[in-house]
Amino acid sequence: MRIIEKVCEMQEVADTWRSEREKIAIVPTMGFLHEGHLSLLRTARKLGTKCVITIFVNPTQFAPTEDFESYPRDLRKDIELAAEIGTDAAFVPTIEEMYPEGFQTFVEVTRVTQNLCGASRPIFFRGVATVVSKLFHAVKPHVAVFGQKDFQQLVAVRRMVRDLNMDIEIVGQPIVREKDGLAMSSRNAYLRAEERPVALRLSRSLQLARELVGSGEVSGAAILKTVNDCLTAGGGARVDYAKLCNPDTIEEVQTVEGPTLLALAVWVGKTRLIDNCVLGG
Ligand code: AMP
Repeated sequence: MRIIEKVCEMQEVADTWRSEREKIAIVPTMGFLHEGHLSLLRTARKLGTKCVITIFVNPTQFAPTEDFESYPRDLRKDIELAAEIGTDAAFVPTIEEMYPEGFQTFVEVTRVTQNLCGASRPIFFRGVATVVSKLFHAVKPHVAVFGQKDFQQLVAVRRMVRDLNMDIEIVGQPIVREKDGLAMSSRNAYLRAEERPVALRLSRSLQLARELVGSGEVSGAAILKTVNDCLTAGGGARVDYAKLCNPDTIEEVQTVEGPTLLALAVWVGKTRLIDNCVLGG
């Protein structure tokens, strides 16, 4: 696996591949890889003939109060894991390479980013859209693979690609979970042993909501009451949001009629966890 730090080198490699009619698939990540990331890489390998992982903890999507400094990192292990899967290149730029002095251009997706994580983290999606477009310009992919774990991010990236006429296919992949149901996340490394049962309430509450909808419940208020009760029973969790939304517009809905996104963000101690599922339809 080729390890590339410079944008210009990545672009040269991409140009060569494109001239040889290779199909480039990209998986953008912030590293500290787990099975969720690896499932995206396996999909990317199938969809393209050349597969590139990008590993970059992007400072512009973190607010000053957030966990940019402490975000878990293990580049050596990430490179080993990506190579084992047959990834062709890892693009691992430095902060200076991505944001050199004088940098002042940002990409903003305005509406689908208002609610959910955009409401709690006002600069988050501007940072995400900006870094993803920069990574796209460096790697020149034909196809990009993202996880549904970050559902709103996937919707925002799809919107950006459409709005800016980027000739890239965006593929979403299902959430990979631990055996106990916890959605895999690099941030799970922050959880203390005693916080783990609290963290499990996210997937449990999604399951309860699915059961309610399966038994015919359509009232958003009733579903969200069950979800909130499950999340908070026993203490130790602070709900940032638990909302029902239209999965295309990310606007809130009051009833579950047709496919409806149930999205959660919950603080467990110092760790903010997100999870979601699509109900109905
Ligand atoms: P991150 O490194 O957390 O920025 O995530 C990089 C990519 O992996 C994003 O497209 C995420 O949605 C995806 N991802 C993270 N966790 C999971 C998971 N448990 N299952 C599927 N995809 C995931």
